[in-house]
Amino acid sequence: MKGTPTNKKRALIVGSGIGGPVAAMALQRAGIEAVVYEAYDAPADYAGLFLNIASNGLDVLRTLDIDVPARADGFPVSRMVMYSGTGKCLGEVANGIRLPDNTVSVIVKRGLLQRVLREEAESRGIRTEYGKRLDSYEIIGNGGGVIARFEDGSEVEGDLLVGADGVRSRVRRLLNPDSPRPSYTGLLSLGGYARGPRITPTPETQHFIFGSRAFFGYLVRETGEIWWFANVARPDKPSRKELSRVSSAQWKRRLLELFSGDPDLIGEIVESTRGEIGAYPIHDIPTAPAWHKGPAVLIGDAVHATSPNSGQGASMAVEDAIVLAKCLRDVLDTERAFLTYERSRRERVEKVVAYSRRIGQSKAVSNPVARWIRDQIMPFALKHFANTGSHAWLYTYHVDWDEKVAA
Ligand SMILES: Cc1cc2nc3c(=O)[nH]c(=O)nc-3n(C[C@H](O)[C@H](O)[C@H](O)COP(=O)(O)OP(=O)(O)OC[C@H]3O[C@@H](n4cnc5c(N)ncnc54)[C@H](O)[C@@H]3O)c2cc1C
Repeated sequence: MKGTPTNKKRALIVGSGIGGPVAAMALQRAGIEAVVYEAYDAPADYAGLFLNIASNGLDVLRTLDIDVPARADGFPVSRMVMYSGTGKCLGEVANGIRLPDNTVSVIVKRGLLQRVLREEAESRGIRTEYGKRLDSYEIIGNGGGVIARFEDGSEVEGDLLVGADGVRSRVRRLLNPDSPRPSYTGLLSLGGYARGPRITPTPETQHFIFGSRAFFGYLVRETGEIWWFANVARPDKPSRKELSRVSSAQWKRRLLELFSGDPDLIGEIVESTRGEIGAYPIHDIPTAPAWHKGPAVLIGDAVHATSPNSGQGASMAVEDAIVLAKCLRDVLDTERAFLTYERSRRERVEKVVAYSRRIGQSKAVSNPVARWIRDQIMPFALKHFANTGSHAWLYTYHVDWDEKVAA
């Protein structure tokens, strides 16, 4: 794999979620020094529930020699099986493709994934500074770089700044104050971990149930632990304060009501949940007019947050990271490199965000007639429009590190 030892730029990366550390490692491979600045005071190794790293995301991590599935206790999921609220099997969809080394998409706890990426970056000599919440940045002269200022009063200078600071990105707002706000999709996501119901582990499988009032997904680990989530329609967006006031016991009661009449298994899983039930409103960013300006550029959720329905949020962030690094390696003028990066990525990520939102719309259908029609059509649709061939555009995306980027 080639790097460019002469490319002596220094990158300031804002955000040590998923895209940030991967961008730092990809930039290092491109010969660009990077330091990561994270708002949290310490590593957030337990933040969030679990997420899917699809085969296209794993392929990027493989290219960068980051072995996530083994180190982050990943649960391989090659297939997703769908059921109606009456328990009828509607069909199944492949969750990505099998990579040449037989790896399939994995579901990992988000906090553990973040820890593995952080530790891997550290082992490669990449520094992450905590308690550094970006407040503003200043562009130095014409092509002179950038100064990042943090809320603790400190500042740091670099040649370029990468906003990997998530859906509520500060960098996005500074870069373009007119950026559209993340759009609320009308769905809440809730989830947790359960143990108790005697459900036989089904290797490589995640199950989805289109309940009569809400959507439920679960998988059963080989240890018997069940990882589950629910999507609930809530047309008016609740505030974060309102959500934080709802206790886990209250969520349990609410979910038991919502899923009454659906397969009993759902109630059993919800009842036997241990620990907290987390809930958050799902947002996405269908399109952002500005991806970069001067020495600043955006990656991941900061520029194209996607709803979790397609299981692509983390994969899109790591794809961005490697493509950006390649562009900076091969196109020495920073702004032209950013433009090349945007041109390589915009169409794909916007397609993923739109696709993901469409999946979300089929999840909470309140009208019983519409639900009946959906359940009749879905077996045919899954067979003909959700097969490996029709999803090839999503899962077979491959970034060849050694191929040179043309400006
Ligand atoms: C706490 C949390 C929990 C999540 N839980 C889930 C989940 O359960 N399921 C799921 O599918 N997806 C979840 N996600 C979203 C998922 O991780 C992302 O869609 C995906 O990984 C894209 O990664 P990213 O690097 O672009 O952004 P993120 O992973 O969101 O990382 C952004 C990082 O930037 C930091 N940051 C934000 N503002 C600043 C600032 N001003 N200065 C410095 N740092 C800043 C944040 O603290 C965070 O560490 C969660 C995200 C977060 C932050």
